[in-house]
Amino acid sequence: MHKFTVLITEDEKQLYGVLSKILTANGYRTSWAASGMEAISLASSLCPDIILLDLGLPDIDGMEVISQIRTWSGCPIIVISARDSEEDKVRALDAGADDYITKPIESTHEMLARIRTCLRHSAQAGLDHRVSQQPYQSNGLEIDFLRRSVSLDGTLVHLTPIEYKIVAFLAQNSGKVVTYAAVIKNVWGPYAESDNKILRVNMANIRRKLEKNPAQPIYIFTEVGVGYRMAENGMLNNP
Ligand code: CA
Repeated sequence: MHKFTVLITEDEKQLYGVLSKILTANGYRTSWAASGMEAISLASSLCPDIILLDLGLPDIDGMEVISQIRTWSGCPIIVISARDSEEDKVRALDAGADDYITKPIESTHEMLARIRTCLRHSAQAGLDHRVSQQPYQSNGLEIDFLRRSVSLDGTLVHLTPIEYKIVAFLAQNSGKVVTYAAVIKNVWGPYAESDNKILRVNMANIRRKLEKNPAQPIYIFTEVGVGYRMAENGMLNNP
């Protein structure tokens, strides 16, 4: 069976050991890069399926590693960093990281779920157009990308064209955090003002239409100061 290779970029050997042990126990093959330059070199020679990246590295900054790898590779990158400032998360995501996990890692389960989500998205990106147009489904919410329709427990929900674009974009990236800037660029185009206000207004309307309790959303979550994360596609009804 094909095992996915995870390139762990982490200068603390002990932490690498812990991560490697968890991942190996869960069926992954791991490799270690202890510096940024090593990560860039191994990303190219090893062609890992996914890269876990610490931002604080002894040689070059993790942000630089993301930018360099992104010039030639779409390999999923999950940032694992002790820097929990929102600004750093946004910068890493906008530089091309796919997701981030804050150190210390509190939930192994959560980390493995994030890795699976990234691998699934990267597999889908390599498939043909029709496959990526598969409907989104989560807890009674269904989005049909071909008919451009949204329904809740079988009843059509009326969204404005802008609201639909926002929901569809988040759904196509479900399970991953999407920055405010990425949503704005996708919906309003590259020359849109990067003011979040109009996005927040639209999101409030979307939540009023989709969520039973907009204050405790189950479909679209807010990552404060960073962006939104839509519930993973394919979640069945939870009790
Ligand atoms: Ca470090």
